[in-house]
Amino acid sequence: MSDGKLRTPTNRTCERCGRAEQWDRTEETWRVVETDGTPRVGNPHCIHEWDINGAFSPFGDDADSAEV
Ligand SMILES: [Zn+2]
Repeated sequence: MSDGKLRTPTNRTCERCGRAEQWDRTEETWRVVETDGTPRVGNPHCIHEWDINGAFSPFGDDADSAEV
């Protein structure tokens, strides 16, 4: 319940093919999310365009703009 403090995104969905992944903190890798036992793998040839849930921005402002 401390998601607000995490800088790491924990879920991402491809806007192109619908692939959904979830960050596995133990394995430190992305895992495909399953919905009702069906992996949402999307299109393996897709150049995924991730829609990161929440306010996280991977190339975000808070890293390089020293807004204090
Ligand atoms: Zn995709």
